[in-house]
Amino acid sequence: SELTLAIVKPDGISGNYSSSIRNIILQSGFTIQTQATLHLDEHTVTTFYAEHSTKTFFPSLIKYITSGPVLIMVLEKVNAIADWRTLIGPTDARKAKITHPDSIRAMCGEDLERNCVHGSDSRESAAREISFFFPHLLSG
Ligand code: ATP
Repeated sequence: SELTLAIVKPDGISGNYSSSIRNIILQSGFTIQTQATLHLDEHTVTTFYAEHSTKTFFPSLIKYITSGPVLIMVLEKVNAIADWRTLIGPTDARKAKITHPDSIRAMCGEDLERNCVHGSDSRESAAREISFFFPHLLSG
């Protein structure tokens, strides 16, 4: 099976969506390998989202992700990376509400930035992101 990194972002936590999201995760056949609730600081988010550091929305993204605690989970399942991405829906939560109404982002997100959840987008990012937050979890 495969591991992926899921994050319930500050708007998901403050909107009290954590338990609904956890129920969807478990009902969809994932197991939660480990989890942590953290209030990320600017340095941590800047490192995590380094690929976006040159984008115009970067300062706003940092402010959003550091605005409150996040719930970080390592999910395990066959095809976990792609299946979690399918479950969360498109990046733009406003579009998700129209095109993917059953997705998690349609349920708890607001727009292109405030989209309530994160999911690793490839095997490479999953490995990088899991070892970033849980350095002892992966071997090799
Ligand atoms: P994530 O990596 O969080 O799962 P994603 O892969 O769907 O989301 P990315 O393109 O990697 O989207 O962008 C990372 C995050 O940055 C998005 O989830 C969103 O919160 C924010 N974001 C992306 N594009 C924009 C934008 N154009 N304007 C504002 N915020 C954005």
